[in-house]
Amino acid sequence: MRELLARRDIQLTKSLGQNFLHDAHQLERIAAAAELSRTDKVLEIGPGLGPLTELLLQKAGEVLAIEMDGRLVEVLCERFAEQLASNSAPQLELHHDDALKFLQREPRDWCDWKLVANLPYSVASPILVELAAGVRAPKMIVVTLQLEVAQRLMAPTDDDHYGILTLLVQLDFQPRGWFKIPPGCFFPSPEVDSACVCLVRRATPLLAEEQREAFRRIVKKSFSQRRKMMLKLLKQDWPKEKLEAAFTRLNISFLERAEKLSLEQFVALTKKILEAD
Ligand code: SAM
Repeated sequence: MRELLARRDIQLTKSLGQNFLHDAHQLERIAAAAELSRTDKVLEIGPGLGPLTELLLQKAGEVLAIEMDGRLVEVLCERFAEQLASNSAPQLELHHDDALKFLQREPRDWCDWKLVANLPYSVASPILVELAAGVRAPKMIVVTLQLEVAQRLMAPTDDDHYGILTLLVQLDFQPRGWFKIPPGCFFPSPEVDSACVCLVRRATPLLAEEQREAFRRIVKKSFSQRRKMMLKLLKQDWPKEKLEAAFTRLNISFLERAEKLSLEQFVALTKKILEAD
């Protein structure tokens, strides 16, 4: 990797989270967690120099990769010239783009896709929120990210890491497993610990499409000041009577703080608040 980068005079860009995973064993573990078969379509964000892309192409039927750094796109075009040819199988589609902008600009139905990626850490959370919300979300997410973000994705109720990201993602996904990846498995080694998490889309959505915006607003408002009583915070945006009636019906104390409420309670609260008077 070092040699390849030096030969092309590529200086890595820290702001793009360019820590490349070179450990073959960890790459295999990531691919194995995604349980790939030839019928699978895989979205990879930030392929970098392509070590994971190579494995994905060995195991899946189709890979769509989005890389923001034009210098790496050139490397990828050379490395995967054969798979980029229009009639090849497995097929690789490579986009030179900012993945977040790509996802926002071209909302697609990712229902039949799996997201498998070593994400750029600085944009991992917005990318996950963009992709994981809604009925068009991928059926499985296997991503490597900062350990602290992984803990937020997996967190149970009342855990220190439980919060907005947990609820926005767990509304549609159930955590299946995770494993740590030591810093030495990357080049250069990141300053933070990393982990790969596997999330599986729920078979039945907990909320209908039209209820999701209210859920997002309720969750964000409830956690806007973590130590405050959530009823007080919600009163800034919803009528007091409606909220108090909903809390009473659901047996939630008026004094409760957001971190004590489970996902199921947030879902029930959303439904109650949306009910016609
Ligand atoms: N997948 C490679 C690996 O495992 O070695 C590289 C992973 S590295 C952590 C993140 C990659 O995402 C880099 O190649 C970086 O250039 C790319 N990247 C950063 N921001 C991006 C964005 N907004 N959209 C797409 N790619 C991005």
